[in-house]
Amino acid sequence: MKIICIGRNYADHIEELANERPSDPVLFIKPDSAVLPKEQDFYIPEFSEEVHHEVEVLVKINKVGKHIGVKFAPTYYDEIGLGIDFTARDVQSELKKKGLPWEKAKGFDGSAVIGQWLPKSNFKDLDSLDFSLLKNGKVVQKGNTGLMLWKIDELIAYVSRFFMLKKGDVIFTGTPAGVGKIKANDYLSGILEGQELFSIKIK
Ligand code: ZN
Repeated sequence: MKIICIGRNYADHIEELANERPSDPVLFIKPDSAVLPKEQDFYIPEFSEEVHHEVEVLVKINKVGKHIGVKFAPTYYDEIGLGIDFTARDVQSELKKKGLPWEKAKGFDGSAVIGQWLPKSNFKDLDSLDFSLLKNGKVVQKGNTGLMLWKIDELIAYVSRFFMLKKGDVIFTGTPAGVGKIKANDYLSGILEGQELFSIKIK
């Protein structure tokens, strides 16, 4: 499987990193080795002094498709989840400055937290899902999918123009404002529509 991530999909997060508002979705990919195994603690990698949490709504692709039309996108997923796109922000800033690819900052081992999946039929409106990230019991990030610049179905259509989607692929739909540094002994938990879908300890 592959993980396709969307960057800069929430206006408030674009502002906090002083990024430009993109005219098209920003895409990058994490390898399957980036998935943090279930129930495993997250170890801050030795090459970074500044790993940030980015909580994101996830979509799991259920069949092969390319050049998918927005109208047909809903038939390509049945499950919605929540996860973290861990980012070595210091490494990413250096790479950005040099115009280099982000993989070292975004695709390292354990950088993709994938929480429990829920059937999309559980939700009335996927374009209005509340989600949040708690750090040590305090809300640090709070978002709603209604604030995404590109909605889930638009993202699937866009991504599939470049990358054939396959069963099991996961799309990270971007993070809202509130990203921040983690440190050892932090405890993170992710809530989607009132339900906790993951919790992890930082080492
Ligand atoms: Zn992200």
